[in-house]
Amino acid sequence: MKKDNCIFCKIANGEIPSKTLYEDGEFRVILDLGPATKGHALILPKEHADNLCDLPRETASKVLVLAQEMASTMMEKLHCDGLNLVQNNGEAAGQTVTHFHLHMIPRYRDDGQSINWTPGKPTQEALEEIRRQIVE
Ligand code: AMP
Ligand code: ZN
Repeated sequence: MKKDNCIFCKIANGEIPSKTLYEDGEFRVILDLGPATKGHALILPKEHADNLCDLPRETASKVLVLAQEMASTMMEKLHCDGLNLVQNNGEAAGQTVTHFHLHMIPRYRDDGQSINWTPGKPTQEALEEIRRQIVE
């Protein structure tokens, strides 16, 4: 299903032009218009899903395989030194476009970007409580 007024639905399905790196029946991979680094790309499913939890299982299972293929190509062609995969879900996590997308961000030594967080220092007890909250 496509969602009305979803820009990534329109891009993924070719209604809005994009700098496409790859396309098949289910996905389009495009260059991000506001790249963190040279070659920053987005993997977009053609079917609308708001986020990771909303993504059909079959589609989800194919995303990382496609990312792996794209990563090999990008490492080879761009001669980048590394690559970050970033996938934001929800406004609190920085998601600005509510259509699932996987960022592929080539990294270059001294590119000046950082994808960081400040590590916490939880006790073993606090970790155990969280573990239980998730699994029980
Ligand atoms: P996120 O913050 O994870 O939702 O990422 C949204 C990304 O989409 C940002 O990196 C934007 O630069 C990118 N973006 C937004 N609109 C477009 C567009 N029309 N074409 C390509 N990339 C876009
Ligand atoms: Zn959409």
